Amino acid sequence: MNRYQEECITLALAGNPNSGKTSIFNNLTGAKQHVGNWPGVTVEKKEGTFSRDGHNFRVVDLPGTYSLTAYSMDEVIARDFIMSEKPDVVVSILDASNLERNLYLAVQILELNANIVIALNMIDTAETMGIKIDAQYLSELLGVPVVATVASRNNGMDRLVATVLDTTRGVRDKKRIQVYYGKETEKEIERLVGKIENNAELKERYVPRWLAIKLIENDSNIIENVRAAKNGNDIADDAEFARGNIRSTLGEDPEIVIADMRYGFISGLCREVVSRTNIDRRTASDRADAVLANRVLGFPIFLGLMWLTFQLTFTIGTPPMEWLGALFNWMSVILSQALGDTLLSSLIVDGVIGGVGGVVSFLPNILLLFLGISLLEDSGYMARAAFIMDRIMHRIGLHGKSFIPMVIGFGCNVPAIMATRTLDNPKDRLITILITPLMSCGARLPVYILLTGAFFSPAVSGHIIFSLYLIGILMAVIMAKVFRRFLFQGELTPFVMELPPYRIPTLKSVLLHIWERAWMYVKKAGTIILAISVIVWFLMTFPRNFDGKNELQVKIESTHAQIAAMTGNSETPAASPEFTELQTRLEQLEGRMARESLEKSFAGKIGSFIEPAFRPIGFDLKATISIIPAFLAKELVVSTLGTVYSIGDADAKSKTLRERIRKDPNFNPLTAYVLMLFTLLTVPCVATIGIIKKETNSWIWPAFSVAYQSTLAWTVCFIVYQTGRLLGIGI
Ligand code: GDP
Ligand code: MG
Repeated sequence: MNRYQEECITLALAGNPNSGKTSIFNNLTGAKQHVGNWPGVTVEKKEGTFSRDGHNFRVVDLPGTYSLTAYSMDEVIARDFIMSEKPDVVVSILDASNLERNLYLAVQILELNANIVIALNMIDTAETMGIKIDAQYLSELLGVPVVATVASRNNGMDRLVATVLDTTRGVRDKKRIQVYYGKETEKEIERLVGKIENNAELKERYVPRWLAIKLIENDSNIIENVRAAKNGNDIADDAEFARGNIRSTLGEDPEIVIADMRYGFISGLCREVVSRTNIDRRTASDRADAVLANRVLGFPIFLGLMWLTFQLTFTIGTPPMEWLGALFNWMSVILSQALGDTLLSSLIVDGVIGGVGGVVSFLPNILLLFLGISLLEDSGYMARAAFIMDRIMHRIGLHGKSFIPMVIGFGCNVPAIMATRTLDNPKDRLITILITPLMSCGARLPVYILLTGAFFSPAVSGHIIFSLYLIGILMAVIMAKVFRRFLFQGELTPFVMELPPYRIPTLKSVLLHIWERAWMYVKKAGTIILAISVIVWFLMTFPRNFDGKNELQVKIESTHAQIAAMTGNSETPAASPEFTELQTRLEQLEGRMARESLEKSFAGKIGSFIEPAFRPIGFDLKATISIIPAFLAKELVVSTLGTVYSIGDADAKSKTLRERIRKDPNFNPLTAYVLMLFTLLTVPCVATIGIIKKETNSWIWPAFSVAYQSTLAWTVCFIVYQTGRLLGIGI
């Protein structure tokens, strides 16, 4: 009659003790049971059968457990049954009045990759306790069907069976969620999964990700089995190594880290689906979250913390930055005295020190920025920030999850784009990839610090820099909305925002993060920035006039001679008006000289060619030249300005770049701000373009990024510059 007639659907009941397993078993089977023992042990095994709509079911009642570790026989039996017998469906029974603890088991069953149907039992008790659970939303977030039941009153059983049947008919409809165990741990999991997938025996027997997690949890039973497998020792040893890595970076046992993240996931999940809980056993984390993840206070606190980070980066970072700047100036003076007025001297002083030195001086600020970001991340605060942002992000068609890559983007856009891998939905992920480069990365910071230092008072500099970060976020938000509306329409896939417990960051992990970043910054300065600075220097120095001295040079030399003569004759030359006049003339002549030689150079020719495009946003030749290499690396704006303002400026060596830029009549606070804005919004750097290509596996999206960001940058700068000029602000 029916093709299922002869088949038998195996159904395993899993749940905490007292969650109602026996009641559901009895409801389904009519208490017709067969009691035996699990093979080899004296634990009772209860089985029964029933038929419904022409289908035969076999029901196995698994031992009641709270977890699936190797610490108790019951737990090993339960997980072995699910893993090796592969029941058609596992019915995970949850006590709704104690959802958080019950989910701990359910989440682990999910990791076993079993076909799951959740029976949300005891909803009557939950209701009398004032707990409301959004079963529909729970189902969406977990990606598994959820049926509400009251087993003691035989309620919901028909729907449970119907749902089980649907599940066996295939279509595991939605994508399953996965608990995210944190950056360090995930790195180790991913590595182990790679190894497990190369081992035929283990791959066949286990779900690779589950096995990797169990190994990291130091599950004795699993380690034994892995060691017994062919080539398994290798993997077990590697897992030991992974555990060591996690322990030393996070300062915590790996099994605790895993459990914490699992609870964090569940805690985030419950915050979404449970609308009223009894607040009696609140932990310190919960109390902190009442404030930090508060719907009203959360956002201002987040902004305040970000503001504080950037403010400290600027104020504490400035003195050591100035010392480094002075050190490089001193080196320039010594070297140019030693080398004289030669090409080599210009290459070293203007090209290398002007370029690389300019970038390296900002190392103290960079270190502070990463200290701040690392503290916020490692303490668990960033997860709260993402949680708070979730609601705001929904309005622009994204999740709070997209906010994490954005925050990482404050450090560097490249790892930020890699972090979008935690987003399963391709559309959400693509939008996040496209807006992440608008986050102001560490490489832009030197540009801000240089220009605000030159044109704004120390009192407002911090605010000016903060405003750029905010504009970056604002533009990202606007663009996300635009992309969602016009390019990637679609529903949001639901997501759980994890709320792992707060922890005091270990010194080691903070230092490690800062060191990684600092080293990358210095390495970048010593390689790409160095190479490009030399190229920029070359383009600015050549072609030269080799056919003798020109008229200007003659004039300059004669003025020099006049000044020298005056200094020789008079005792107080500085006081005489003639002397001041000569000095002014010399400065003007030298200024003209520098401008003319820049205009004649290759860089000047390229710059003059595109300058008209930048004139509406207030850039002169020097600013235009400095912005061109920004697509290679944003720090190059600083190093190029360093070279532009150093070549041909006779007394450049004794002045800081800041002072030299401030002296330039073509520069004012408005143009400086627009230049910073342009650096923020313009095309992503090559490294970012490369990672966009890699992550989207196409050239379309990197090309699109370049196109939309250059348009956006120009348009925003045009509006700001023209408005500023009309209103007379900052000129
Ligand atoms: P097991 O330990 O998981 O097998 O749970 P049992 O089925 O033995 O149930 C434990 C207790 O909870 C029994 O007293 C049941 O009558 C009761 N119970 C089971 N389901 C429900 C329910 O949905 N609502 C209420 N109020 N009580 C239930
Ligand atoms: Mg029982």
